[in-house]
Amino acid sequence: MVVRRLLLGLLLVCQAAVAQSGDPHADFTRDLTAIREEAYVTPRAALRRLDVLRQGHTGRELGQVLVVTSGAYWWLKDMNRAVDAALGAERLGRELHDDDLLAQAMLHHAYALSKYVHDQEAARRLVQGAARLADDSADPYLKTEALVTQGMLAEEDGDTAGGIELVTRAVDVARAGNDPDALQMALREQARLLASVGKFTEALARTDEMIAAARARGIRGQLAHARLSEYATAARAGNPKRAESALRAAVDLLEKLDAQERLAVPLANLSELYMQGRRYGEAERAATKALRISRAVGDDYGIRLATFELGLTQIYFRNIAEGRAMADKALEALKSDDQYVRMLLNYGHALGQVGFGEAALTIYEKAGSVSLAAWRKEKELSYEALQRARDNQKKQTELAALHHESVLKAAELTSARRQRSLWVALSATTCVAVILIALLYGRVAKANKALQQKNEQLFMQSTRDSLTGLFNRHYFYEQVVPRHHRKAGAASDRRAGAEGRTGGVFLLMDIDRFKSINDTLGHGAGDVVLKNVAARLAATLREQDVLIRWGGEEFLAYLPGIGTDEARQVCARVLAAVGGTTIALDDRELTATISIGFCPKALQPDAIDPDWEQLVHLADLCLYAAKTGGRNQAIGIVDAGVLAPGVIAAADADLKRAAAEGRLALLNVRGPAAVPDRAAA
Ligand code: GH3
Ligand code: MG
Ligand code: MG
Repeated sequence: MVVRRLLLGLLLVCQAAVAQSGDPHADFTRDLTAIREEAYVTPRAALRRLDVLRQGHTGRELGQVLVVTSGAYWWLKDMNRAVDAALGAERLGRELHDDDLLAQAMLHHAYALSKYVHDQEAARRLVQGAARLADDSADPYLKTEALVTQGMLAEEDGDTAGGIELVTRAVDVARAGNDPDALQMALREQARLLASVGKFTEALARTDEMIAAARARGIRGQLAHARLSEYATAARAGNPKRAESALRAAVDLLEKLDAQERLAVPLANLSELYMQGRRYGEAERAATKALRISRAVGDDYGIRLATFELGLTQIYFRNIAEGRAMADKALEALKSDDQYVRMLLNYGHALGQVGFGEAALTIYEKAGSVSLAAWRKEKELSYEALQRARDNQKKQTELAALHHESVLKAAELTSARRQRSLWVALSATTCVAVILIALLYGRVAKANKALQQKNEQLFMQSTRDSLTGLFNRHYFYEQVVPRHHRKAGAASDRRAGAEGRTGGVFLLMDIDRFKSINDTLGHGAGDVVLKNVAARLAATLREQDVLIRWGGEEFLAYLPGIGTDEARQVCARVLAAVGGTTIALDDRELTATISIGFCPKALQPDAIDPDWEQLVHLADLCLYAAKTGGRNQAIGIVDAGVLAPGVIAAADADLKRAAAEGRLALLNVRGPAAVPDRAAA
């Protein structure tokens, strides 16, 4: 008994001793994770710690150090070293047949290629390879990171809904795997994507969660990062107060952490916020500090950004020439920045405020053309994504078209053969031949008619959407644009003018919360609703109106010859037609509503017609306002006469602000009160 107790005691002592000495692998992992999480705020310090940590480690652990090293260089924008480190880790992963390591390395390699080399194809291949490996991995961080990266790729391809789905899965994986660092990463991307589609409340809930978690775990670098996400989200949501307090908290934390490499951009952003609040002195101080710090650490991007903001403060202080020189020089190197348009607009605003209206207009025009080009690109991308998603269906349609084509070819052949026979018959001069000719002629005419019908059928197939039967984008580009978009002064417009019916209106319509119909009732039910809504739209519009299935659950209508007043009535009719009565499904009835954005095309008789894409783009902005304003409503621009380039640019930057400043007027038509859904008896 005593001996047993003694032995047990000894065992416990031994265990304690082992625990005391620590598990070196656990220590290594803990240190590496801590460094990884600080690499964003203080990348140089992280690199120093990584150098120490890597001593004495080989194989897998060395590979893991290299992965984090690549990340730190990425944050420092040192592309060559970021790629080198990732390649080193990739090599080790392959040598050791360590798929987790290989996948992490491939992801980091992809980041550097995508961000600094702009080789999206190579980056995509790496990410897809890494994602396949991550699927079989048990590491929640790797799985999360792979999903987040795929989500970012989807977004880049214009498939934001797909991107959100992927990062939402990433959040679930991180939660299930109990990995708080992975969760921060996934929530950060989720917040950014949700904000990009206007779901600000949800996005801010994510940043709240990030902040609470970082605070509870006492990780200040993470907290600063989370605060910066909060700032970006609040700024997007049009909440400058919250944006400012988040940004100030982030700057405070970064200063305490002595995060010199990370401070310049937030300080420049702070300067921008101060200028918006007309606090020019504070703005100047923040920009000056940003410039000083970015010069000290050699951060070229920070230098440009700070110089730009400082230039604007100088304009507000009426040092116009000096301020403009600074802003122009900085902007020259910021052309590919994703905030370029916003900067142009701030610049134009500053010039306008100090009475340089002409110069402001030029800047606004530039902003307009840059943002239009970006919008066009984005629309093209999302159209391509839709195309890819519909690939299967398209293949089937193509098969059907091929079948028709073969029928057509056969008909052509027969026709040719008969025509030949006709000539042979003609050369014969007998009575029988004459009779034969008459007979054959009739057949040829019949075959030609069939041919023409087949041709029409083929044309229909290429211009119609197979689900709703409406025209598709192809038709719009090929038929509507060339027919209706003429410069003012063309004969048709003059005629229209003489009849007092100039103009036309673009309506962009999008079914509300359609995804939740798909999610709760299935894709089949979604299709039924889509068809039903399309039919209601077609029945509500006039015969001369053009109705297009513009995207998934998005429709574009072009209503020639009407003005704003009639557009208001049409919108009321459309809202009532869609949301006023329920749609019958197999086992239930439900109400679908629609939101509308519209923009008129009418202009003074001799004005130049603006690009139709610009008008659809404005309709899109109005649609967005209708969505964020509660859905089941239409918002549109009242008077096309005001749509000068400067106004279009200002509307593009901030539609509501442009309206509040009186640059244009918006009109609002609300849909019918909700009809409750019900299950069929
Ligand atoms: P919102 O009110 O903001 O417009 O919300 P929403 O859910 O309608 O918008 P979102 O763009 O997130 O979702 C649109 C969904 O439409 C996503 C896509 O899966 C679905 N969709 C697109 N085309 C089709 C289709 O042909 N059939 C079905 N059933 N669904 C489609
Ligand atoms: Mg949509
Ligand atoms: Mg929708």
